[in-house]
Amino acid sequence: MSEKQEYLRKLSAVDEVLILPEIAELLEMHPRGLVVDAVRIIINELRETILSLEDLSQLEDLKLEAKDLIPLVKKLVQKVTTFSQRRVINATGVVVHTNLGRSILPEEAVEAMAMAARSYTNLEYDLSQGQRGSRQTHVASLLTTLTGSEAALVVNNNAAAVLLVLTALAQDREVIVSRGELVEIGGGFRIPEIMRQSGVRLVEVGTTNKTRIEDYQRAITSETALLLKVHTSNFKIVGFAQEVSLQELVCLAREFGLPVMYDLGSGVLTQLDVRGFEQDPKVRDCVKAGADIVTFSGDKLLGGPQAGMILGRKDLVERVKEHPLARAVRINKISLAALEAVLRLYFDPARAVQEIPTLAMICRSYEELKAEAEALKEILTHEVSPKITFSVEDEVSRIGGGALPLLELKTAALALFSKDLSAQEMEGRLRLSHPPVIARIKEDRILIDFRTLLPSDRDDLVKVIKEISSGD
Ligand SMILES: *Cc1c(COP(=O)(O)O)cnc(C)c1O
Repeated sequence: MSEKQEYLRKLSAVDEVLILPEIAELLEMHPRGLVVDAVRIIINELRETILSLEDLSQLEDLKLEAKDLIPLVKKLVQKVTTFSQRRVINATGVVVHTNLGRSILPEEAVEAMAMAARSYTNLEYDLSQGQRGSRQTHVASLLTTLTGSEAALVVNNNAAAVLLVLTALAQDREVIVSRGELVEIGGGFRIPEIMRQSGVRLVEVGTTNKTRIEDYQRAITSETALLLKVHTSNFKIVGFAQEVSLQELVCLAREFGLPVMYDLGSGVLTQLDVRGFEQDPKVRDCVKAGADIVTFSGDKLLGGPQAGMILGRKDLVERVKEHPLARAVRINKISLAALEAVLRLYFDPARAVQEIPTLAMICRSYEELKAEAEALKEILTHEVSPKITFSVEDEVSRIGGGALPLLELKTAALALFSKDLSAQEMEGRLRLSHPPVIARIKEDRILIDFRTLLPSDRDDLVKVIKEISSGD
């Protein structure tokens, strides 16, 4: 312990660090309080390290003089003074890329968000009556009109929608689900765990690959609150497989006077002219087939902001709305403004496909993407050092976000190959560029998939590729 105390005494004091010329420079650029806090945090961290070391011989390796602290302080100050969430170039070809923020929004939605952010709004104020209103009125009739449902409620995201519905309609009772639909969506969202959180008792029926209507029927008891169907989203069971259709489930549920809930995940509002896309159920068809509650995300195939839609029978939606948890998962006014703008676009499906970036990207044709890839290849071949060579390759892009996992969208990718740089090195350099470029690696090459590039990305892409090829 005495040895540790000796080292603690060696540790510089805040004032000793602050008088160093390098720190004085920082003080000229940044508020004094921020720099002082940074110095304090670094010194405290070193103190903690000294105290926690078990192997005393490691103490000698610690650099504790005032000048040794300079790079640590600089790094911390830089970290807190630069934006953490930044624009990146999505060159992965994955349209609804959850790690890159899922859907980007149409201009109408961006303007609506700016309006809601800059000004007071009639968020919960009924202008015609001059009294308190509900934030749900701004989108409820849009959703019911677009989907044919009786009632609608919008919350913070789809995970919250599922949690809220199960809690409000089935707490302390039984919910029947097929074993083939007990999915994990990613980021820790697992259907069985959400059910446990909601306080419902999960009753699993069938097997992983086959579930029949009789399996549900046998499981119904006086304790059953609802039958749940879950879109398997990010995987598909192929081969010797069988699932119960929504129609069959509805028929059975009606016999017993039970509601059916369908967690659709993505929620497609309009058909796209893309082969294979028709396999995903449309929200309107699910409502028509008799689902009593349908839930889906705002930022997956809908192409809007993060939000969770709850559609369905009026009496059920009303019960959900009145549950105390609804307040805890309510949507914010900025997302609500964006959602309203996106939903309005759907009244003209042709316009929706053009203006909602998620839909437009999914619909981009191979020919169009190939022409763009060839054009950029031409520019880069002339402008970039021969250290990197370029070719255009036929590839596949994916929708992502757990939607249509098997659907392959034919695309054109620009491949970057270098004899001097490994694909891993190039990937790292692209990722650490300004703006960062997120690309795929295939064997010894980098692939830039044109499907998810925005027109404004092209110039930056050229700049970044030039830079990564000029360093050593
Ligand atoms: C994505 C998904 C969710 C979660 O939705 P979030 O918008 O991410 O909260 C829930 N259920 C299914 C079936 C999904 O695909």
